[in-house]
Amino acid sequence: FSRLAQGLKRSSSKLGDSVSAIFTKRKLDREALEELEDVLIAADLGAAAAMQVTERLAKDRFDKEVSDEEVREALAEVVAETLTPLEQGLDLSGARPQVVLFVGVNGSGKTTTLGKIAVKLKREGRNPILAAGDTFRAAAIEQVSVWGERAKSPVIKREIGADAAGLAFDAIDQADRDGHDVVLIDTAGRLQNKAELMDELRKVVRVIKKRMPDAPHHVVLVLDGTVGSNAVSQAQAFLEASEVTGVVMTKLDGTAKGGALVQVAEKFQLPIHYIGIGEGEEDLQPFSARDFSRALAG
Ligand code: GDP
Repeated sequence: FSRLAQGLKRSSSKLGDSVSAIFTKRKLDREALEELEDVLIAADLGAAAAMQVTERLAKDRFDKEVSDEEVREALAEVVAETLTPLEQGLDLSGARPQVVLFVGVNGSGKTTTLGKIAVKLKREGRNPILAAGDTFRAAAIEQVSVWGERAKSPVIKREIGADAAGLAFDAIDQADRDGHDVVLIDTAGRLQNKAELMDELRKVVRVIKKRMPDAPHHVVLVLDGTVGSNAVSQAQAFLEASEVTGVVMTKLDGTAKGGALVQVAEKFQLPIHYIGIGEGEEDLQPFSARDFSRALAG
């Protein structure tokens, strides 16, 4: 918890400073509530959560003096209530191999998250295989290879520009043949040409289904915690192109925009599997709504 709290310090202190500025020696009147709502929206929490916080405070404390702590407490409660139903590990217990597709825009932390999960799985005694499905970028192929070494797991890769859907198909083939129980597939994430990217993603899913009709078992959307409310439009785009089954939010170490997780979760009701709090293999935590809400509220 303390590393997460440290990571979200910029988010929580930005909120805390603004909250203090409103409430120093002042009653909770209409105007104060409106200012508070604006502060919460500016912290990327989204309008729905912001309104819930102000309504909760107004219900009990209207026209009374409120302390910073009371505001933080209301915030933590609302965030925890919103996110607790969505706290859900990545369940890889079903039919084998379990096929997991990682989607998200370039730079969101997709490959890193895939790699961290591979290391984790290997340690738990699973036997993953990695597919370097971002065939557009040499660096991405190389990066999956590095994570494959760290996870002591094989990597399926091809030359740059190769067909990503075919590569995903072959990865499942090889998993079947060699007894791998999890297939972790990276995908391209260029957003400049959204239509093309989404078509590509649909094709990857279509071809995976030819090989294994109930796959992919998970489509994990990786969102960058530093982009704030832009995460909502990114999520929207990927939900239109594929059946996203859950999210991971990365870079919650040192961002002032961590509140965006609340907005995305509330809007799309997506399970949250993990959060990223650094670049290393240990820096992936199972998502805990309670820890997150306490770290965010400060
Ligand atoms: P991709 O393009 O979506 O595959 O993104 P990458 O996995 O290449 O990540 C982009 C950059 O973000 C890399 O430099 C990663 O090391 C870094 N990164 C990924 N996750 C985290 C995280 O949780 N915290 C921090 N600080 N950096 C991260």
